[in-house]
Amino acid sequence: MPTSSPIEAPALPAQGLPAAEILERLASYRSHDLACDERTWAYVYDAGQEVRELARQASAMFLSENGLDPTAFPSLLRFENELVALGAAHLGGDAEVVGNFTSGGTESILLAVKAARDRARSEITQPEMVLPTTAHAAFHKAAHYFGLKTVSVDVDASFRADPPAMRAAINERTVLLVGSAASYAHGVVDPIEELAAIAVEHDLWLHVDACIGGFLLPYLARLGQEVPAFDFRLPGVCSISMDLHKYAYTPKGASLILYRNKELRRHQFFACADWTGYALVNATVQSTKSAAPLAAAWAVVHHLGDAGYLRLARSVRDTTRQILAGLEELPDLRVLGAPDMSLIAFGSDSINLFALVDAMKARGWHLQPQLAFRNAPSSVHLTVTAAHERCVPALIADLRASVEEAREQVDNPMLAGLAAAVAGIDPEGLEPEAFLELLAAAGLQGTALPERMADVHSILNALPKPLVEALLVAYFNELYAGGN
Ligand SMILES: *Cc1c(COP(=O)(O)O)cnc(C)c1O
Repeated sequence: MPTSSPIEAPALPAQGLPAAEILERLASYRSHDLACDERTWAYVYDAGQEVRELARQASAMFLSENGLDPTAFPSLLRFENELVALGAAHLGGDAEVVGNFTSGGTESILLAVKAARDRARSEITQPEMVLPTTAHAAFHKAAHYFGLKTVSVDVDASFRADPPAMRAAINERTVLLVGSAASYAHGVVDPIEELAAIAVEHDLWLHVDACIGGFLLPYLARLGQEVPAFDFRLPGVCSISMDLHKYAYTPKGASLILYRNKELRRHQFFACADWTGYALVNATVQSTKSAAPLAAAWAVVHHLGDAGYLRLARSVRDTTRQILAGLEELPDLRVLGAPDMSLIAFGSDSINLFALVDAMKARGWHLQPQLAFRNAPSSVHLTVTAAHERCVPALIADLRASVEEAREQVDNPMLAGLAAAVAGIDPEGLEPEAFLELLAAAGLQGTALPERMADVHSILNALPKPLVEALLVAYFNELYAGGN
């Protein structure tokens, strides 16, 4: 292998830069970032300037503390135990329910999967989990990290888990069943009551992924909306993940993993005295751990309070209803399923949705494209938050104009050829050189993405999923590299 020449990497300044200049640079570097405002319909949850400012101050107060050792920082233990107790009460838990604060929904899910695997470990060495196709990708990540096999079961026509089909997928190696309240892609709550009954019947662990719905759904119920049962009130529900950095509007890095009792939660922990350093015990994945998201989360939930969250939930509910009514006026778009909360997916039989996303982007809106999978068609996702209260008429008007623009869009003739070329690739053997050639063939300069992403999404939508995954890995392997 020839040694490569050193790249022109940015170096540390010989003398440190003044703080004012640093802050100026940070501000200028973010000018191409996605706007964190009401034009964005994914990623961002914002309850306004005042909440943001409090979160900023609380975070800043706790930048040095270390969550590694809660006995050294009792304040952190207190914040965590209080947030867990609030979460448990919010989700119908009794005094037996315990849990931990984690960095996000993915970490909460990783921990629940690990706990379920380890509880069964003495009997089951090749563990499997049975989950609906709508369950979050984080479960597949957990399976990948922890050596479980996933058994993905098709959902029904309303995009809800199909309990009889899930029951049929259970075998002697199954250690975990999964349901969502609600699912991210379509915003529907799975029939958790039936899944819980199956879990009891087969003595299986049921995890309810309430990352996005756990905080909001009880408020929607209090506002009179019909919300199916999904929480600890159902026997058989063993663990629930609930993010705070979504509908509790806390800064990112905040989620809860809750267990019905300590016996279940015990399998989440890791301890090690098998080295020369301090005797280590970790409740969660991280060891040294920032206290800033924890302190900020504690601050925000106590500042907004029950009344604050009820007000925000009402706003979100009303905005969602307005959008659903607006979409009814657009015959080219159809809402998939019947959303149970504030997540909307719409599909189309007449226009290219990926072109619609581009046309909306040109008008300043960020909507999230979702690829077709099994019996779910491709769609566009909207996460409705309190920030969107006043922008529905503008959103619908721009959707109307963008539908017309997308209708005019003809498929790039290069696409068919490229899709065929790509389809022949073995995902296992995707070499970096071949990948870069592909990017060039698709008209991409290195890793820079084109302004219009419709062609890229259309290709991804047409390819087998293992190939999509291999292409994404290859792309990010280039993206996170010096000299870009
Ligand atoms: C957001 C989400 C997750 C993953 O959470 P992260 O915080 O992004 O790691 C899991 N499940 C559902 C339903 C979600 O909405």
